[in-house]
Amino acid sequence: MSRSPELVRLIEHLDSAVSPHHSVAHSARQLVDAGFESVDFGRLERLPERGFVADRGLLIAWRRGHAGAGFRIVGAHTDSPGLRLKPSSSSTAHGWRQLNVEVYGGVLNNSWLDRDLGVAGVVVLNDGTTELVRSSRPIARVPQLAIHLDRDVNERGLVLDRQQHLAPVWGLDDGSATSVIEWLARDAGIDPDRVRTWDLGLFDVTGAALLGSDEELLASGRIDNQVSCWAAVEGLIASSSGPGTAVVALFDHEEVGSESTTGAAGPRLEWILEALHDGSRAELHARYADSLCISADCAHSVHPNYPDRHDPSHRPLPNKGPVVKINANQRYATDSGSAAAFVALCERAGVPHQFFVSRNNMPCGSTIGPITATRLGITTVDVGAAQLSMHSARELCGSADPILLSLALREHFSS
Ligand code: ZN
Repeated sequence: MSRSPELVRLIEHLDSAVSPHHSVAHSARQLVDAGFESVDFGRLERLPERGFVADRGLLIAWRRGHAGAGFRIVGAHTDSPGLRLKPSSSSTAHGWRQLNVEVYGGVLNNSWLDRDLGVAGVVVLNDGTTELVRSSRPIARVPQLAIHLDRDVNERGLVLDRQQHLAPVWGLDDGSATSVIEWLARDAGIDPDRVRTWDLGLFDVTGAALLGSDEELLASGRIDNQVSCWAAVEGLIASSSGPGTAVVALFDHEEVGSESTTGAAGPRLEWILEALHDGSRAELHARYADSLCISADCAHSVHPNYPDRHDPSHRPLPNKGPVVKINANQRYATDSGSAAAFVALCERAGVPHQFFVSRNNMPCGSTIGPITATRLGITTVDVGAAQLSMHSARELCGSADPILLSLALREHFSS
């Protein structure tokens, strides 16, 4: 089956974005190729017409519009739940070599079992510089206990202790003291003695795949929220200049509450909006009042095996367009005005849309929308592609939805 260039680019993004740092690096490459200028966070005084700043798992890109017109912002997040290497990265036990991992975010523990895992992220060298690293092959696995040694697991349900049962094996103890960091540094062509600290996590080495008779489904790690990161950058690059200043903000640490220097609760987006504004503070606030932020993060599709987990009248499906997420208790930032603005964008772009509200007896997730809305006072709508298996090591969505989302975002940036 021939695949559209957009789908090819999406799959490339998913396979590249094996850590927040890799997600940012991949988006930065797309932006540079499209003529956006890379700017250092320390040099915000004269920002170019089209540019971006990137810092660890954070990327903010912009294209200036008319002076005084509002901002057309899209926010998303670069991180996904997973297993991160601890400072003492490896140990031995009972004849095995194991990795010491910390659980990051709301992991579906069982989804990390029996997968061939690589290691990726950044290492910081003795001279203070950082290197992006990704193992050239799988190296580790969290092996599931055989059913013969856990006879009633299917009746009782699998219960995993996050300290005891999620430690991956990465070989047998041969008495050598090689750490996984030494192995990874050599694998990446770096002298292990130069590595001082790191921010590394595990990833399933299996690439994204299209499923279904017409390839209408997409399976991959990190669909939440690389699909939105891809759609935001794709939409920005494809958009034509409108009166508004287009801004893409891809934040880290959403899965752990967004409170960090590179998270949505940090000050970086505000720094950039201020730097993009020539004029008084009152004029900046007037621009904020004329702005719209689309917070893009995945939504729950109805699951055919668990239809009772959705409100009977709000059951999003894959490939039916972006889901507008609503919660009267403000777990989502959407209000009737921002929802109407997004629906109008979808109509202009020829993109369908659907609505999601959670059941009254089921707690609702949250995302960056309410955080940026609270920080900046900018009208915000929470939207995203419908998916299954959210927070699994391998998730599932419709293969058309990321492209439909990018078309709606393109319309937003052009407006
Ligand atoms: Zn998310």
